[in-house]
Amino acid sequence: MEYCDACGKEVETRIISRQETFNVCGEDITIEAQVLVCAECGEELFCEELDSATLVNAYNEYRRKHKLLLPDEIKKIREQYGLSQRSFAKLLNWGDKTICRYENGSVQDKAHNSLLLFLREPENMRTYLTENEIALDERQKAKLLDTVEKLEQDTEYRAGRRFFELFFSKIPCEENGFKGFDYEKLCAMVLFFAHKSSELLKTKLMKLLNYSDMIYYKENGISISGLKYAHLPYGPVPENFDMLLGKMTADHIAHIDVFYDNGYEKHQVIPECDIPDGVLSEEELGVLERIYVKFKDFGSVDISNYSHKEKGYSSTKKGEIISYSYAKDIQLN
Ligand SMILES: [Zn+2]
Repeated sequence: MEYCDACGKEVETRIISRQETFNVCGEDITIEAQVLVCAECGEELFCEELDSATLVNAYNEYRRKHKLLLPDEIKKIREQYGLSQRSFAKLLNWGDKTICRYENGSVQDKAHNSLLLFLREPENMRTYLTENEIALDERQKAKLLDTVEKLEQDTEYRAGRRFFELFFSKIPCEENGFKGFDYEKLCAMVLFFAHKSSELLKTKLMKLLNYSDMIYYKENGISISGLKYAHLPYGPVPENFDMLLGKMTADHIAHIDVFYDNGYEKHQVIPECDIPDGVLSEEELGVLERIYVKFKDFGSVDISNYSHKEKGYSSTKKGEIISYSYAKDIQLN
């Protein structure tokens, strides 16, 4: 019950919503406001909680319109670096109370907003720390750098996981040989063939991977890498293979060198590290060895022609995934 001046008595109340316009930083901002009214005559009644919520909404609407960080977002940036409001302000060379004011709802100016946005990324914070005279003492600075390092690793890790989740299935099915995609095993396979061969071309590597996965599946009911292979004009090709090669290049596992041979562009696989221990089992290595020996003297064209005769290839159309169920028809001899 609230007292209504218009009715001159205690009355039931209800909340209505209506458009209201506020002046925020010299600009008219219109929002949907919640207002308390008398249930009998409809007169507006004072309610502190609703009024301040409305004002907060008006300010946030202004921030959204100008792409300014919200107070909570500013707080999150500060907290991810484990800094107090005071030391964060010090780090930025701002007044003592500035961060406190922003986190409590004052609208930040544009330049401050840009700096905060920039520093949201840990690697930018590292740049900022190395390129500016910082008002923090050595101990605080060391601690902050430590935090930045942890955040960077975390960010890379998350970005890496997102990449795989987006393009490669972790769910076993017939198309991936009943095995979720395994990047580590794939890298080991690529390194195995790249180290063994005197000159390994990308087109041949794709066929070697395909035969290894198919034969291992035929004998064990599961693939090695969990790759899906698509039917392309030159034979079966691992799905999103160029993307994987890009990732391997970035990870310094292996990269592609392009060279010209009699007017032809050739893509050679160059390993950048050793075959990792313990990633591939004895049985898996055994299959890779057999595939390597079988196709040792095949050029890219020979192996391509060879793979065209496979039932999995002839039974599928361009672009289709070649199911591992065709593995049973592959004869290596
Ligand atoms: Zn009333």
